Amino acid sequence: MHKHSTRMLLAETSKRAANYLDGLENSRVFPSTEAVQCLRDFLDAPLQEGSIEARQILAQLDEYASPATVASAGGRYFGFVTGGTLPASLAANWLAGAWDQNAFSTVSSPALALIEDAALRWLKDVLLVPAKAGGALTTGATMANFTCLAAARHRVLRAAGWDVEADGLFAAPAINVVVGEQAHGTLFKVLAMLGLGRERVIQVPADGQGRIQADLLPDLQGPTIICIQAGNVNSGAFDPASRIIAWARDNGAWVHVDGAFGLWAGAVPELAHLVAGYEQADSWATDAHKWLNVPYDCGVALVRDSEALQGAMSISGAYLLLNEQERSAIDVTPDSSRRARAVDVWAALKSLGREGLVDMIHGHCRQAAWLAGELRDAGFEILNEVVLNQVLVAFGDDARTQTVIARLQEAGECWCGGTNWKGRQAMRISISSWATTRQDMLRTRQAIVSAAA
Ligand SMILES: *Cc1c(COP(=O)(O)O)cnc(C)c1O
Repeated sequence: MHKHSTRMLLAETSKRAANYLDGLENSRVFPSTEAVQCLRDFLDAPLQEGSIEARQILAQLDEYASPATVASAGGRYFGFVTGGTLPASLAANWLAGAWDQNAFSTVSSPALALIEDAALRWLKDVLLVPAKAGGALTTGATMANFTCLAAARHRVLRAAGWDVEADGLFAAPAINVVVGEQAHGTLFKVLAMLGLGRERVIQVPADGQGRIQADLLPDLQGPTIICIQAGNVNSGAFDPASRIIAWARDNGAWVHVDGAFGLWAGAVPELAHLVAGYEQADSWATDAHKWLNVPYDCGVALVRDSEALQGAMSISGAYLLLNEQERSAIDVTPDSSRRARAVDVWAALKSLGREGLVDMIHGHCRQAAWLAGELRDAGFEILNEVVLNQVLVAFGDDARTQTVIARLQEAGECWCGGTNWKGRQAMRISISSWATTRQDMLRTRQAIVSAAA
């Protein structure tokens, strides 16, 4: 393409994107059925023979797809702990798109190797993970859990004299895998992918907030991995790490933390009590695309024993520890070719600074506490202890709660999803976007009260 027309295309696209973001204030949070149908009709076409000018394609995308999007980039989307995208991170993501770096190693992109190292260093710092831990950016917390648990599998089987990467699991010593009853659904998928089994796990009963009951942990022998949770996806509750880690020491177990959003509590001094003890774990998975508010997709895998990480993920199968300068993403992640997600993370942290990060995360927790108080005052039932950014609310029996959720979603002023909490239907409100203002909170309270009227 002509240089000049590329420049025009990008300028026009940035205008479209800015207009889209500006429009979120007054658009429906979940698209209307008509808007989605309109996009479906537009897409229902065979691939044409000739080429089409890029500007026209962008115009069509904007015309048909923009109105069909979910306004999760705006301030009133409270589903799935998604978070928005910080402006600096969005813009950095665009620039990185222009760079088109393949971020698998120093050889493919020296710049990306450096930026990823810097981003990981800052992440470990703010998440209270030991500076020496190995790590990598993954697609999300699912693959971060996968990466960490592959390292765990490597280490506990090595200690039992078994090389799982070379010889597979077929005649390997059995591994005890311990999880909380309320572990995230994706964790079971990860265990299935790793050959550890969704169902052969030992599930420890949870308490009323969904936390592992540490006094119910069994005594175990042999290779053992326990998965604990920083931030229950419904209640926001934290498993009692210190007691679990003491048990793990007695039982020689690897402790893995699924902290997809909850680990970010560590960045806030006022919330650090929630993650007390977590720094003693062996591995940590979290998401940057959730609470750090970077674009999808971006997870973070951190492993204390970086040799175990390389042992599990090295492309050559050799797990001689490479020195840090030679660290290549291809040796510490499931992926080979990969996008420049470190740029998004680095720009987000750089733009917020420590104070901005604290204000954002703590601010969401305060917004959650405020909204819970308002809804309680309005006569609704708050089902969880609001310790973080999650609020579970019921509006009466299950049928009534479901009706209120459906009405709220239909009205389009904000979006909250439904969930099942201890056998009851509940509405889940996750506050995790930098874009959520006080005005958004007032509008949300009003929308919920109206939907329940
Ligand atoms: C979101 C979440 C996951 C999965 O994360 P993805 O980024 O969607 O892969 C895992 N565990 C918990 C606790 C989560 O909240």
